[in-house]
Amino acid sequence: MISLKSPREILLMKESGRIVHMVFTKVKAALKPGMTTLDVDKIAKDVIISEGGIPTFKNYNGFKGNVCVSVNDTLIHGIPSKKEILKDGDIVTVDVGVTKNGYVADAARTFLVGNAKENAQTLVKVTEDSFWYAVNLAAKPGNHVGDISHAVHEYASRHGYTVTTEYTGHGVGRRLHEDPAVPNAGQKGSGPLLKVGMTLAIEPMLNEGLVDLVVLKDGWTVKTKDGKLASHYENTIVITENGYEVLTMGEE
Ligand code: MG
Repeated sequence: MISLKSPREILLMKESGRIVHMVFTKVKAALKPGMTTLDVDKIAKDVIISEGGIPTFKNYNGFKGNVCVSVNDTLIHGIPSKKEILKDGDIVTVDVGVTKNGYVADAARTFLVGNAKENAQTLVKVTEDSFWYAVNLAAKPGNHVGDISHAVHEYASRHGYTVTTEYTGHGVGRRLHEDPAVPNAGQKGSGPLLKVGMTLAIEPMLNEGLVDLVVLKDGWTVKTKDGKLASHYENTIVITENGYEVLTMGEE
């Protein structure tokens, strides 16, 4: 069932989203070669706790981290580890969920560590741009979820990237994962109708190479099968009368 949020609920999600975004600001400022992915997790945890939030991902289906930290060919669900050291030229995705006052916001950014190669920079930029292209084109009342999905896929394909369909965006609010699913590919006009008050985590996941993925024995880490780079960008949005508003933004 898809729940529509009241203005009061949207304000609470915005407060969680403010904290999510503060994590990105702090991580981006601190990120440098030699840090571990566990160091990134600690920065995130400290921000979330000091702002009165709860790290939503911690213990979610047994996940060990406070946030997901996914390096290079890891697309999503990287488990923070003191053994994983960031190198110059890596790309690292930080996926953050924050719960405060019972409401969740969810977003992800892929950052460049030091001097990333041009192919890495382009992948990261196109992933982010595919989000904005899709929401600006399709996120408004009267359209369907499939219009957003189609736009993400169309933009990514046009730039030569494959798009993951095994994992999707989702409704978000009282829970981390609510209806509806928001795939990163689909038919125009298909899927649920977008309505004012619908809150969605829209999250393009793009691969430089083939679309095939593998899940490691830890049960979480999702990598590209061919070892090529993968990138992820996500925001929580609400559908408004005029289109949409992003609930997980701030100064970047
Ligand atoms: Mg999400």
